[in-house]
Amino acid sequence: MRIKVQKFGGTSVADLQCMQQVLNKVRAALDDGYKVLVVLSAMAGQTDYLLSLANRWSSTPDPAELDSMVTTGEQVSVALFSMLLQDQGIKARSLLGFQIPMRTDSNFGRARILDIDSPRLQAMLEQYDVLAIAGFQGCDCEDRLTTLGRGGSDTSAVAMAAATNAEVCEIYTDVDGVYTTDPNVCSQARKLDKIAYDEMLEMASMGAKVLQIRSVEFAKKFNVPVHVRSTFTDVPGTLLVQEDNSMESALVSGIAYDKDQALITLANVYDEPGISATIFEPLAIAGVVVDMIVQNPSREGRTDMTFTVPKGDLEQTLQIIDNIKDQIGAKAVFHNPKVSKVSVIGMGMRNHSGIASIAFKALRMENINIMLISTSEIKISCLVDEKYTELTVRTLHEAFGLDQKPQPACEEPGQSQ
Ligand code: ASP
Ligand code: MG
Repeated sequence: MRIKVQKFGGTSVADLQCMQQVLNKVRAALDDGYKVLVVLSAMAGQTDYLLSLANRWSSTPDPAELDSMVTTGEQVSVALFSMLLQDQGIKARSLLGFQIPMRTDSNFGRARILDIDSPRLQAMLEQYDVLAIAGFQGCDCEDRLTTLGRGGSDTSAVAMAAATNAEVCEIYTDVDGVYTTDPNVCSQARKLDKIAYDEMLEMASMGAKVLQIRSVEFAKKFNVPVHVRSTFTDVPGTLLVQEDNSMESALVSGIAYDKDQALITLANVYDEPGISATIFEPLAIAGVVVDMIVQNPSREGRTDMTFTVPKGDLEQTLQIIDNIKDQIGAKAVFHNPKVSKVSVIGMGMRNHSGIASIAFKALRMENINIMLISTSEIKISCLVDEKYTELTVRTLHEAFGLDQKPQPACEEPGQSQ
Protein backbone atom coordinates (compact mmCIF):
# COMPACT_ATOMS: atom_id res chain seq x y z
CA MET A 1 0.00 0.00 0.00
CA ARG A 2 1.45 3.39 -1.00
CA ILE A 3 0.69 6.01 1.61
CA LYS A 4 1.06 9.76 1.48
CA VAL A 5 0.43 12.27 4.25
CA GLN A 6 -0.82 15.71 3.22
CA LYS A 7 -1.13 18.43 5.83
CA PHE A 8 -3.02 21.66 5.23
CA GLY A 9 -2.78 24.71 7.50
CA GLY A 10 -5.48 27.11 8.60
CA THR A 11 -5.33 29.37 5.54
CA SER A 12 -5.75 26.32 3.27
CA VAL A 13 -9.02 25.30 4.95
CA ALA A 14 -10.27 28.83 5.68
CA ASP A 15 -13.45 28.47 3.57
CA LEU A 16 -15.20 26.28 1.06
CA GLN A 17 -13.26 27.72 -1.86
CA CYS A 18 -9.91 26.94 -0.23
CA MET A 19 -11.09 23.46 0.72
CA GLN A 20 -11.82 22.81 -2.97
CA GLN A 21 -8.11 23.37 -3.64
CA VAL A 22 -7.32 20.91 -0.88
CA LEU A 23 -9.69 18.47 -2.50
CA ASN A 24 -7.79 18.81 -5.79
CA LYS A 25 -4.49 17.97 -4.08
CA VAL A 26 -5.99 14.94 -2.39
CA ARG A 27 -7.57 13.77 -5.61
CA ALA A 28 -4.26 14.07 -7.45
CA ALA A 29 -2.63 11.84 -4.82
CA LEU A 30 -5.46 9.30 -5.13
CA ASP A 31 -5.06 9.34 -8.92
CA ASP A 32 -1.35 8.57 -8.39
CA GLY A 33 -2.37 5.44 -6.52
CA TYR A 34 -1.86 6.60 -2.94
CA LYS A 35 -3.98 6.13 0.13
CA VAL A 36 -4.02 9.55 1.77
CA LEU A 37 -3.87 10.69 5.36
CA VAL A 38 -5.00 14.30 5.29
CA VAL A 39 -4.04 16.19 8.44
CA LEU A 40 -5.90 19.45 8.88
CA SER A 41 -5.55 22.52 11.08
CA ALA A 42 -8.44 24.58 12.37
CA MET A 43 -9.84 27.14 9.92
CA ALA A 44 -7.70 30.31 9.96
CA GLY A 45 -8.21 32.36 13.12
CA GLN A 46 -10.28 29.70 14.91
CA THR A 47 -7.68 28.66 17.48
CA ASP A 48 -7.01 32.30 18.39
CA TYR A 49 -10.75 32.91 18.66
CA LEU A 50 -11.30 29.91 20.93
CA LEU A 51 -8.41 30.89 23.16
CA SER A 52 -9.73 34.43 23.48
CA LEU A 53 -13.11 33.03 24.43
CA ALA A 54 -11.60 31.02 27.25
CA ASN A 55 -9.71 34.03 28.49
CA ARG A 56 -12.96 35.97 28.68
CA TRP A 57 -14.63 33.24 30.72
CA SER A 58 -11.82 32.66 33.13
CA SER A 59 -8.78 34.56 34.36
CA THR A 60 -6.93 31.27 34.80
CA PRO A 61 -8.44 28.76 32.36
CA ASP A 62 -7.84 25.17 33.38
CA PRO A 63 -5.26 23.82 30.89
CA ALA A 64 -7.11 20.52 30.44
CA GLU A 65 -10.40 22.27 29.69
CA LEU A 66 -8.58 24.68 27.40
CA ASP A 67 -7.28 21.74 25.37
CA SER A 68 -10.68 20.14 25.36
CA MET A 69 -12.06 23.32 23.83
CA VAL A 70 -9.38 24.26 21.28
CA THR A 71 -9.39 20.79 19.76
CA THR A 72 -12.86 21.61 18.43
CA GLY A 73 -11.27 23.87 15.80
CA GLU A 74 -9.64 20.91 14.06
CA GLN A 75 -12.74 18.77 14.62
CA VAL A 76 -14.80 21.18 12.51
CA SER A 77 -12.23 21.16 9.68
CA VAL A 78 -11.98 17.37 9.37
CA ALA A 79 -15.73 16.79 9.57
CA LEU A 80 -16.45 19.41 6.90
CA PHE A 81 -13.69 18.12 4.68
CA SER A 82 -14.91 14.53 4.99
CA MET A 83 -18.33 15.68 3.81
CA LEU A 84 -16.73 17.24 0.73
CA LEU A 85 -14.83 14.04 0.00
CA GLN A 86 -17.89 11.86 0.45
CA ASP A 87 -19.92 14.10 -1.88
CA GLN A 88 -17.30 13.30 -4.52
CA GLY A 89 -17.81 9.59 -3.98
CA ILE A 90 -14.47 9.19 -2.22
CA LYS A 91 -14.37 6.66 0.61
CA ALA A 92 -13.36 8.83 3.53
CA ARG A 93 -13.94 9.52 7.20
CA SER A 94 -12.70 11.93 9.82
CA LEU A 95 -10.57 10.85 12.76
CA LEU A 96 -9.95 12.81 15.93
CA GLY A 97 -6.81 12.33 17.98
CA PHE A 98 -8.53 10.23 20.63
CA GLN A 99 -10.19 8.03 18.02
CA ILE A 100 -6.89 6.87 16.53
CA PRO A 101 -5.78 6.99 19.37
CA MET A 102 -2.70 9.17 19.44
CA ARG A 103 -1.42 9.01 23.01
CA THR A 104 0.50 11.90 24.51
CA ASP A 105 1.79 12.84 27.91
CA SER A 106 -0.41 15.04 30.10
CA ASN A 107 1.35 18.35 29.49
CA PHE A 108 -1.78 20.16 28.41
CA GLY A 109 -1.11 22.83 25.83
CA ARG A 110 2.29 21.40 24.88
CA ALA A 111 1.88 17.65 25.07
CA ARG A 112 4.42 15.29 23.53
CA ILE A 113 3.45 12.28 21.47
CA LEU A 114 4.02 8.90 23.13
CA ASP A 115 2.38 6.45 20.79
CA ILE A 116 0.17 6.14 17.72
CA ASP A 117 -1.92 3.06 17.06
CA SER A 118 -0.36 2.29 13.66
CA PRO A 119 -2.03 -1.12 13.10
CA ARG A 120 -5.41 0.54 13.57
CA LEU A 121 -4.53 3.26 11.07
CA GLN A 122 -3.31 0.66 8.60
CA ALA A 123 -6.53 -1.32 9.06
CA MET A 124 -8.63 1.78 8.44
CA LEU A 125 -6.66 2.52 5.29
CA GLU A 126 -7.79 -0.87 3.97
CA GLN A 127 -11.35 0.32 4.42
CA TYR A 128 -11.05 3.99 3.40
CA ASP A 129 -9.08 5.79 0.70
CA VAL A 130 -8.73 8.99 2.68
CA LEU A 131 -8.56 9.54 6.43
CA ALA A 132 -9.10 13.18 7.44
CA ILE A 133 -7.13 13.46 10.67
CA ALA A 134 -7.48 16.32 13.13
CA GLY A 135 -4.04 17.83 13.66
CA PHE A 136 -2.66 19.31 16.88
CA GLN A 137 -4.53 16.95 19.21
CA GLY A 138 -4.19 13.67 21.06
CA CYS A 139 -5.25 12.18 24.36
CA ASP A 140 -3.36 11.21 27.48
CA CYS A 141 -3.40 7.86 29.24
CA GLU A 142 -6.49 8.90 31.16
CA ASP A 143 -8.33 9.76 27.93
CA ARG A 144 -8.17 13.48 28.51
CA LEU A 145 -7.78 15.54 25.35
CA THR A 146 -4.43 17.23 24.83
CA THR A 147 -2.84 19.58 22.29
CA LEU A 148 0.72 19.72 20.97
CA GLY A 149 1.34 23.48 21.16
CA ARG A 150 0.70 26.18 18.58
CA GLY A 151 1.45 25.03 15.07
CA GLY A 152 1.24 21.45 16.32
CA SER A 153 -0.55 20.08 13.26
CA ASP A 154 2.82 19.97 11.50
CA THR A 155 4.05 17.60 14.18
CA SER A 156 0.86 15.53 13.96
CA ALA A 157 1.41 15.16 10.21
CA VAL A 158 5.03 14.06 10.48
CA ALA A 159 4.11 11.66 13.28
CA MET A 160 1.37 10.13 11.10
CA ALA A 161 3.86 9.71 8.28
CA ALA A 162 6.32 7.98 10.62
CA ALA A 163 3.60 5.74 12.07
CA THR A 164 2.33 4.56 8.69
CA ASN A 165 5.67 4.49 6.89
CA ALA A 166 4.36 6.98 4.36
CA GLU A 167 6.49 7.77 1.30
CA VAL A 168 6.37 11.48 1.99
CA CYS A 169 4.78 14.01 4.29
CA GLU A 170 3.61 17.00 2.26
CA ILE A 171 3.07 20.16 4.27
CA TYR A 172 0.87 22.51 2.28
CA THR A 173 0.90 26.11 3.35
CA ASP A 174 0.51 29.65 2.02
CA VAL A 175 4.19 30.01 1.11
CA ASP A 176 5.77 27.91 -1.61
CA GLY A 177 8.73 26.58 0.32
CA VAL A 178 11.70 27.43 2.51
CA TYR A 179 13.76 30.40 1.38
CA THR A 180 17.43 31.29 1.78
CA THR A 181 16.19 34.10 4.01
CA ASP A 182 13.03 36.06 4.74
CA PRO A 183 11.82 37.35 1.33
CA ASN A 184 10.20 40.31 3.12
CA VAL A 185 13.64 41.46 4.19
CA CYS A 186 15.67 40.50 1.14
CA SER A 187 14.13 40.57 -2.32
CA GLN A 188 16.96 38.34 -3.57
CA ALA A 189 15.86 35.46 -1.32
CA ARG A 190 15.64 32.22 -3.30
CA LYS A 191 13.53 29.15 -2.71
CA LEU A 192 15.61 26.14 -1.74
CA ASP A 193 15.00 22.82 -3.51
CA LYS A 194 16.35 20.90 -0.56
CA ILE A 195 17.42 21.58 2.97
CA ALA A 196 18.91 19.25 5.59
CA TYR A 197 16.92 18.67 8.78
CA ASP A 198 19.68 20.20 10.87
CA GLU A 199 19.77 23.34 8.75
CA MET A 200 16.00 23.64 8.95
CA LEU A 201 16.13 23.29 12.71
CA GLU A 202 18.49 26.26 12.83
CA MET A 203 16.35 28.23 10.38
CA ALA A 204 13.10 27.42 12.15
CA SER A 205 14.39 28.18 15.60
CA MET A 206 15.37 31.61 14.37
CA GLY A 207 12.17 32.87 12.97
CA ALA A 208 11.73 31.12 9.63
CA LYS A 209 8.25 30.28 10.81
CA VAL A 210 7.27 27.76 8.17
CA LEU A 211 7.11 24.67 10.37
CA GLN A 212 6.74 23.91 14.05
CA ILE A 213 10.27 23.06 15.18
CA ARG A 214 9.18 19.85 16.83
CA SER A 215 7.92 18.52 13.53
CA VAL A 216 11.42 18.88 12.11
CA GLU A 217 12.95 17.12 15.12
CA PHE A 218 10.44 14.35 14.64
CA ALA A 219 11.13 14.10 10.91
CA LYS A 220 14.86 13.89 11.58
CA LYS A 221 14.45 11.22 14.23
CA PHE A 222 12.29 9.00 12.04
CA ASN A 223 13.84 10.03 8.73
CA VAL A 224 10.56 11.22 7.23
CA PRO A 225 10.97 13.14 3.95
CA VAL A 226 8.98 16.35 4.34
CA HIS A 227 7.93 18.41 1.34
CA VAL A 228 6.92 21.99 2.18
CA ARG A 229 4.84 23.44 -0.65
CA SER A 230 1.98 25.75 -1.56
CA THR A 231 -1.68 24.77 -1.59
CA PHE A 232 -2.35 27.34 -4.24
CA THR A 233 0.16 26.33 -6.94
CA ASP A 234 1.54 23.09 -8.36
CA VAL A 235 5.22 24.05 -8.32
CA PRO A 236 7.46 21.85 -6.18
CA GLY A 237 8.43 23.35 -2.84
CA THR A 238 11.35 22.50 -0.57
CA LEU A 239 12.30 18.99 0.45
CA LEU A 240 13.59 18.41 3.98
CA VAL A 241 15.88 15.42 4.02
CA GLN A 242 18.88 13.86 5.68
CA GLU A 243 22.06 15.64 4.61
CA ASP A 244 23.32 14.35 1.26
CA ASN A 245 26.48 14.89 -0.77
CA SER A 246 24.97 17.45 -3.12
CA MET A 247 24.37 19.71 -0.15
CA GLU A 248 28.03 20.12 0.52
CA SER A 249 28.41 22.11 -2.67
CA ALA A 250 26.51 24.89 -0.94
CA LEU A 251 28.68 26.14 1.90
CA VAL A 252 25.89 28.24 3.25
CA SER A 253 22.19 27.51 2.83
CA GLY A 254 20.51 30.42 4.51
CA ILE A 255 20.56 33.50 6.68
CA ALA A 256 18.20 33.62 9.63
CA TYR A 257 17.50 36.46 12.01
CA ASP A 258 15.86 36.90 15.35
CA LYS A 259 14.88 40.34 16.59
CA ASP A 260 13.60 38.99 19.87
CA GLN A 261 16.89 39.29 21.71
CA ALA A 262 18.09 41.39 24.64
CA LEU A 263 21.70 41.52 25.76
CA ILE A 264 22.90 41.38 29.37
CA THR A 265 26.48 41.65 30.58
CA LEU A 266 27.55 40.92 34.13
CA ALA A 267 30.87 42.65 34.54
CA ASN A 268 33.69 41.34 36.70
CA VAL A 269 31.96 38.40 38.31
CA TYR A 270 34.04 35.91 40.33
CA ASP A 271 35.63 33.29 38.13
CA GLU A 272 35.18 30.22 40.29
CA PRO A 273 33.25 26.94 40.23
CA GLY A 274 29.48 27.34 40.51
CA ILE A 275 29.17 30.93 39.33
CA SER A 276 27.49 30.07 36.02
CA ALA A 277 25.09 27.74 37.81
CA THR A 278 24.25 30.50 40.29
CA ILE A 279 23.42 32.82 37.40
CA PHE A 280 21.54 30.48 35.10
CA GLU A 281 19.73 28.19 37.54
CA PRO A 282 17.24 30.79 38.79
CA LEU A 283 16.67 31.91 35.20
CA ALA A 284 15.86 28.34 34.18
CA ILE A 285 13.49 27.94 37.12
CA ALA A 286 11.74 31.14 36.07
CA GLY A 287 11.34 29.68 32.56
CA VAL A 288 13.58 32.27 30.88
CA VAL A 289 15.07 30.78 27.72
CA VAL A 290 18.68 31.96 27.58
CA ASP A 291 20.15 31.93 24.09
CA MET A 292 23.72 33.06 23.41
CA ILE A 293 26.13 32.75 26.35
CA VAL A 294 29.70 34.03 26.23
CA GLN A 295 32.12 33.98 29.14
CA ASN A 296 35.45 35.73 28.84
CA PRO A 297 38.70 34.13 30.00
CA SER A 298 39.63 34.94 33.55
CA ARG A 299 41.62 38.03 34.55
CA GLU A 300 42.84 37.91 38.14
CA GLY A 301 40.02 35.65 39.24
CA ARG A 302 37.35 37.77 37.61
CA THR A 303 35.47 37.45 34.33
CA ASP A 304 32.60 38.98 32.31
CA MET A 305 29.52 36.96 31.54
CA THR A 306 27.34 38.00 28.60
CA PHE A 307 24.12 36.37 27.43
CA THR A 308 20.87 37.06 25.61
CA VAL A 309 17.23 36.45 26.53
CA PRO A 310 13.93 37.17 24.74
CA LYS A 311 13.08 40.88 24.98
CA GLY A 312 9.91 40.15 26.97
CA ASP A 313 11.95 38.40 29.67
CA LEU A 314 14.46 41.21 30.17
CA GLU A 315 12.78 42.85 33.16
CA GLN A 316 12.34 39.57 35.00
CA THR A 317 15.93 38.60 34.19
CA LEU A 318 17.27 41.88 35.57
CA GLN A 319 15.30 41.34 38.78
CA ILE A 320 16.69 37.84 39.19
CA ILE A 321 20.22 39.11 38.54
CA ASP A 322 19.70 41.86 41.10
CA ASN A 323 18.99 39.20 43.74
CA ILE A 324 22.23 37.31 43.08
CA LYS A 325 24.44 40.25 42.11
CA ASP A 326 26.38 40.27 45.38
CA GLN A 327 26.71 36.52 45.54
CA ILE A 328 28.47 36.44 42.15
CA GLY A 329 30.46 39.59 42.81
CA ALA A 330 29.17 41.48 39.74
CA LYS A 331 30.63 44.98 39.71
CA ALA A 332 28.11 46.20 37.14
CA VAL A 333 25.18 44.94 35.09
CA PHE A 334 24.70 46.28 31.57
CA HIS A 335 21.75 45.56 29.35
CA ASN A 336 20.61 46.43 25.83
CA PRO A 337 17.18 45.44 24.51
CA LYS A 338 17.82 46.85 21.02
CA VAL A 339 19.78 44.00 19.52
CA SER A 340 19.10 41.18 17.09
CA LYS A 341 20.83 38.00 16.11
CA VAL A 342 21.67 37.24 12.51
CA SER A 343 22.94 33.75 11.67
CA VAL A 344 24.66 32.18 8.72
CA ILE A 345 23.61 28.52 8.41
CA GLY A 346 25.05 25.72 6.32
CA MET A 347 26.10 22.08 6.52
CA GLY A 348 29.07 22.90 4.28
CA MET A 349 30.67 24.82 7.14
CA ARG A 350 31.62 21.58 8.82
CA ASN A 351 34.25 20.80 6.22
CA HIS A 352 35.29 24.23 5.03
CA SER A 353 37.17 27.02 6.69
CA GLY A 354 36.94 30.71 6.01
CA ILE A 355 33.17 31.10 6.23
CA ALA A 356 33.36 33.29 9.32
CA SER A 357 35.93 35.55 7.74
CA ILE A 358 33.77 36.05 4.63
CA ALA A 359 30.89 37.07 6.91
CA PHE A 360 33.00 39.43 9.02
CA LYS A 361 34.60 41.09 6.00
CA ALA A 362 31.19 41.71 4.45
CA LEU A 363 29.96 43.32 7.66
CA ARG A 364 33.07 45.49 7.85
CA MET A 365 32.32 46.80 4.34
CA GLU A 366 28.96 48.00 5.61
CA ASN A 367 30.44 49.31 8.85
CA ILE A 368 28.19 47.04 10.91
CA ASN A 369 29.49 46.41 14.40
CA ILE A 370 29.27 42.89 15.81
CA MET A 371 28.51 42.85 19.54
CA LEU A 372 28.69 39.14 20.17
CA ILE A 373 29.67 36.12 18.10
CA SER A 374 28.77 32.50 18.71
CA THR A 375 29.30 29.49 16.52
CA SER A 376 28.23 25.88 16.21
CA GLU A 377 29.22 23.24 13.68
CA ILE A 378 26.78 24.56 11.09
CA LYS A 379 26.06 28.11 12.24
CA ILE A 380 27.73 31.45 12.89
CA SER A 381 25.59 33.94 14.79
CA CYS A 382 26.32 37.64 15.18
CA LEU A 383 24.51 39.97 17.51
CA VAL A 384 24.06 43.40 15.94
CA ASP A 385 22.23 46.64 16.65
CA GLU A 386 18.54 45.98 16.00
CA LYS A 387 18.32 48.82 13.49
CA TYR A 388 20.85 47.09 11.23
CA THR A 389 19.06 43.72 11.16
CA GLU A 390 17.80 44.00 7.59
CA LEU A 391 21.05 45.42 6.28
CA THR A 392 23.00 42.63 7.97
CA VAL A 393 20.74 39.97 6.48
CA ARG A 394 21.01 41.42 2.98
CA THR A 395 24.77 41.92 3.25
CA LEU A 396 25.39 38.32 4.32
CA HIS A 397 22.94 36.97 1.76
CA GLU A 398 24.91 38.71 -0.96
CA ALA A 399 28.32 37.83 0.46
CA PHE A 400 27.52 34.13 0.19
CA GLY A 401 25.90 34.46 -3.25
CA LEU A 402 22.67 32.99 -1.97
CA ASP A 403 20.64 34.52 -4.77
CA GLN A 404 22.39 32.09 -7.14
CA LYS A 405 21.75 28.37 -7.22
CA PRO A 406 24.93 26.58 -6.08
CA GLN A 407 26.80 24.71 -8.78
CA PRO A 408 27.17 20.98 -8.20
CA ALA A 409 30.56 20.18 -6.70
CA CYS A 410 32.85 18.81 -9.43
CA GLU A 411 35.75 17.12 -7.74
CA GLU A 412 37.96 14.81 -9.72
CA PRO A 413 37.40 11.21 -8.68
CA GLY A 414 40.03 10.17 -6.16
CA GLN A 415 40.82 13.75 -5.18
CA SER A 416 40.42 14.38 -1.54
CA GLN A 417 40.71 17.50 0.60
N1 ASP B 1 -4.69 25.21 15.06
C1 ASP B 1 -3.49 25.16 15.81
C2 ASP B 1 -2.82 26.52 15.84
O1 ASP B 1 -3.35 27.48 15.30
C3 ASP B 1 -2.57 24.10 15.31
C4 ASP B 1 -2.05 24.30 13.91
O2 ASP B 1 -2.64 25.05 13.13
O3 ASP B 1 -1.06 23.71 13.57
O4 ASP B 1 -1.79 26.66 16.42
MG1 MG C 1 1.53 26.44 10.84
